[in-house]
Amino acid sequence: MEYRRLGKSGLQVSALSFGSWLTFGNQISDKVADELMGVAYDAGVNFFDNAEGYAEGKSEIVMGNILKSKGWDRESFVVSSKVFFGTENKGPNRIGLSRKHVIEACNAALKRLQIDYLDLYFCHRPDKNTPIEETVLAMNTLLQQGKILYWGTSEWSAAEIMEAIAVAKQYNLIGPTMEQPQYNLFERNKLENEYLHLFNNHGLGTTIWSPLASGILSGKYTNSGVEGTRLGMAGLEWLKDRTLAADRMEKAEKLQRLANQLEVSLAKLSIAWCLKNPNVSTVILGASKVPQLQENLQVLEVLPLLTEDVLKEIEGIVANKPKL
Ligand code: NDP
Repeated sequence: MEYRRLGKSGLQVSALSFGSWLTFGNQISDKVADELMGVAYDAGVNFFDNAEGYAEGKSEIVMGNILKSKGWDRESFVVSSKVFFGTENKGPNRIGLSRKHVIEACNAALKRLQIDYLDLYFCHRPDKNTPIEETVLAMNTLLQQGKILYWGTSEWSAAEIMEAIAVAKQYNLIGPTMEQPQYNLFERNKLENEYLHLFNNHGLGTTIWSPLASGILSGKYTNSGVEGTRLGMAGLEWLKDRTLAADRMEKAEKLQRLANQLEVSLAKLSIAWCLKNPNVSTVILGASKVPQLQENLQVLEVLPLLTEDVLKEIEGIVANKPKL
């Protein structure tokens, strides 16, 4: 496994990490979740991603039970939670980024995960109804209490992140260390354009999500349907429509042909492409089955396949390089 600094922080995260969205407490059994965590940890994965909103809190309960039963040294792994979407009990003060919810959600996540502190704590989305000062201060309270070690954002605009950095500076507080954006062959603008000055001037780290764009970049939907996959799950019709849009299907087919020529799976090629970006601190993998994760964890071996020529061929297919 390769380890990368989380931006300019001193924290080392495995280049491949593992997340639980849609799977833990929902799509897969607790037994499979346990096996997946074991496979990841044994391969050197040291970061496990979670959020209060995943399976409405159940994902953290499942991960907490696994962490406890595995008995791994607390120093050997990094675990996150995210605040914004709330759990099953929604209410005006049970969502968002107010001081009240940020602090109560952290305490609740610690209980569900059965740990004393979160290594990473993310604001899962920006909250238009809370001043950024209030959220920055609440995060700093948690830092001082030792309940979180680093805080960050997810899917914030560069301007919103800059505002948080400026507020922290103004009050001598600690600003965001990392952002969690979507990044894959179809979603590139934030990482390759919008955030560049945050990387270059502020050392922002990134924990990127959906490297396979919810599975289409494994190539599997080119030959088969959605049964037995996340896109076949009830309530996820919106994700199915977005993921299997005609232009994406067409590009995935062309990428599959390239992967065949290179004799590598499209999943590995797609994840390796994310890792080539030096502003990616860690790629968060998702998996519903052990063989998927085993395959994805071999991706460091295929990095040498991404030569200049191959990268050019990929650009020709996806035709979406952000204009600077
Ligand atoms: P991906 O885009 O990589 O999708 C993972 C899914 O693709 C798997 O669950 C599986 O789904 C399928 N898959 C994975 N590997 C293979 C393979 N080798 N061959 C075929 N199919 C495969 O990542 P996720 O969308 O799961 O995101 C990863 C993590 O990022 C999440 O768990 C979460 O921690 C984080 N995240 C954060 C968000 C945020 O807003 N901050 C939003 C979304 C995710 P299937 O069951 O369909 O086979």
